[in-house]
Amino acid sequence: MSTAAAHTDRVDAPGAAPVLELRDVAVHFGGVKAVDGVTLTLEPGRIHGIIGPNGSGKSTLIAAITRLTRLTRGELLLDGKPIDDVAPSRLAGLGVARTFQTVRLLPDLTVRANVQIGADARAAAAGQRRTRRGWRDRLRGGGTSPAVVEAMRRTRLEGFEDFYPAEMSYGTQRRVEIARAIAMQPRLLLLDEPTAGMNQTERAEISALLQSMRSAGLCQLLVEHDVQMMIDTCDHVFAMNSGRLIAEGAPREVVQDPRVQEAYLGRRWREHARGQ
Ligand code: ADP
Ligand code: MG
Repeated sequence: MSTAAAHTDRVDAPGAAPVLELRDVAVHFGGVKAVDGVTLTLEPGRIHGIIGPNGSGKSTLIAAITRLTRLTRGELLLDGKPIDDVAPSRLAGLGVARTFQTVRLLPDLTVRANVQIGADARAAAAGQRRTRRGWRDRLRGGGTSPAVVEAMRRTRLEGFEDFYPAEMSYGTQRRVEIARAIAMQPRLLLLDEPTAGMNQTERAEISALLQSMRSAGLCQLLVEHDVQMMIDTCDHVFAMNSGRLIAEGAPREVVQDPRVQEAYLGRRWREHARGQ
């Protein structure tokens, strides 16, 4: 994973219309201000990162974008249009896909069928109905969509098509999750700690995969704790603490920002003081 290689296929599109805009977005749970006034812009063909200590609001921000949690205030604009009232199930049709912080695969379905769910979600949201023959094919394991074949190729899952999740390593299960999201052929892909539990080699592979999708104009938002991976992978990084943005910019500059270091250090100090 070298930084030089990381930026070769970058699409710099100055002035390109943003894919997503957050304006003063807040999500409060009772007295907990999980997200508290975040304004940011995500652009096409770019990998955006979010860093911040545990509990700083990263996952809640993704939940807000994917409509899984209600906004306390603020606005979400996808391609300039408000999505504050759009149901989560309609987001697939608008080209938004995500992976979760913990693996969420259906244990009784093969890898192929799990990935097919992504392609089906997109087709269903677009109003396409499967014919009776289509269903029969699918139940017999046939009728795999080209988007599914392509998603499994990109995530190097060829050969695993007929495996069940429990038969695979944790890292491979995470690749299936990413494949399912890619099979939706999204324009905006949100990844919440996709490499948690992976070793260094697997992380480098995921980094290369995300970078390979940048050239097609995909807009990505990546939450990760591995600072080196963020520097190698992202074009732009946002740093959060206590629900607020405390810095943004080039990855290397953001991780060296004293406010960001203080956010991590302050937390570590408190944990140390509590004897953790
Ligand atoms: P991160 O992903 O950065 O670790 P989260 O977004 O998961 O942080 O959490 C931010 C804060 O909001 C934490 O204090 C967490 O306990 C709280 N929180 C998250 N979800 C809920 C919820 N559903 N109800 C109450 N508090 C929540
Ligand atoms: Mg989280």
